Amino acid sequence: MVRSKPQVLKKQQRDASSKLDVLIVGAGLGGLGAAISILLAGHNVHILESAPEIGEIGAGIQCLPNASRILISWGLEEYLSQHATAPQLCNMIGWKGNKISDMNFHEYTKECGTPFWDFHRANLHMGLLERAVELGAKLTVNARVEDIEYETDAHSDSTTAIAVCTDGTRYKADLIVGADGINSKCREILLGHEDPPLLTGDLAYRLLLNTEDMMKDPELRGFIEDPQVNYWIGPDAHAVNYVLRGGKLFNMVLLVPDDMPAGANTLAGNVDEMRALYKDWDPRIGKLLALCQSVFKWRLMIRPGLDPTWSHESAAFTILGDAAHATLPYLASGAGMSLEDGHVLGLCLARLTSKSTAQKKAALDVYERCRRERTERIVSRGNRQQYLYHVHDGEVQQERDDQLRAFGKFNGK
Ligand code: FAD
Repeated sequence: MVRSKPQVLKKQQRDASSKLDVLIVGAGLGGLGAAISILLAGHNVHILESAPEIGEIGAGIQCLPNASRILISWGLEEYLSQHATAPQLCNMIGWKGNKISDMNFHEYTKECGTPFWDFHRANLHMGLLERAVELGAKLTVNARVEDIEYETDAHSDSTTAIAVCTDGTRYKADLIVGADGINSKCREILLGHEDPPLLTGDLAYRLLLNTEDMMKDPELRGFIEDPQVNYWIGPDAHAVNYVLRGGKLFNMVLLVPDDMPAGANTLAGNVDEMRALYKDWDPRIGKLLALCQSVFKWRLMIRPGLDPTWSHESAAFTILGDAAHATLPYLASGAGMSLEDGHVLGLCLARLTSKSTAQKKAALDVYERCRRERTERIVSRGNRQQYLYHVHDGEVQQERDDQLRAFGKFNGK
């Protein structure tokens, strides 16, 4: 089925009797997306962010058509398409450099009605932030939420929640949305106990290369002149790369066994150690890594689900994004899931005709029913990809490659 491009959503008008004051904890991609969607539903939004300024770390992010569909419906097509690279092909390559298969993004884009987009995270983040502010979001930085309290007003049948920040400031709202990422305080508050994310056994080196250096090498120039997404898959590791900002930057992510000390989740990496891990791989990877001056490494962790429920019984507090269901990045879908969460939550809150607890409860119930199964499936599929990408050469690897060829359009020549 060929899908058409989505309509840009218009901001809903609503009067004070059903207009919620919503507090969002965290101005990451999920929090900002939720802000846009909830503002479009006609409610007020105030975002609390613990960092002293709003920003995203410098690396790439892939947006699949499900995510770009939402971004377009939020009125972001013009801004984002100026900053996006739209690759036409995704190549699966064996670790020695043999092409296994490819997926024709161009064909899928035609079918989906919306594009595959690759961004520098800062551009996607800025687009979301500007749109949220344009729609009326209020933003407070240096505001770290450490607790949430509740109040019930028996006369008006409504509940409110109060976010308490580390400096003692208190913010009252009809609904608090915890979008504070994988190490979520909101999740801990909701559950009433500590609940650290799970280790996956992998870490990611993330690096950005200046493409001027790559253009000097005929073998590397092709990566820039014909932008494609490339996955090299091999024993215990894989590597992904793609072009950003119209060919000005080259993004690489290297996924390898976790060797980080307990307690550290991000560390400066050693470039020589990173290169050594790929010394027997496709020589083009070695050439690319030779251009890298410094690197950081991130421990990869997951949150398979959130039981028993995503929302507090008061119906004044819920959660979304990595706080609820952080996944391995092996399907390039974590941020996409956070954007979908925000989109669905906004659509559910668009139906409110009053601020009553019963109506909020119903909206949050539908939100969770729409999101739980899909996000839990993505997390478990991410784990499955970890196994499939990292198998050693042998029967399972050959079967995997046969499946990839059957799925892709490449005929092996
Ligand atoms: P975050 O982005 O972590 O935002 C949380 C925000 O909350 C932060 O701004 C933080 O400062 C703030 N905060 C934290 N605690 C508090 C507090 N107590 N009070 C107030 N504020 C607080 N996804 C994709 O879709 N495509 C990809 O290609 C992709 N690649 C990835 C590659 C790697 C190596 C990794 C690690 C992830 C990748 N992801 C990708 C996943 C994606 O980055 C995340 O799923 C997404 O950023 C989660 O967004 P979030 O808003 O839920 O959390």
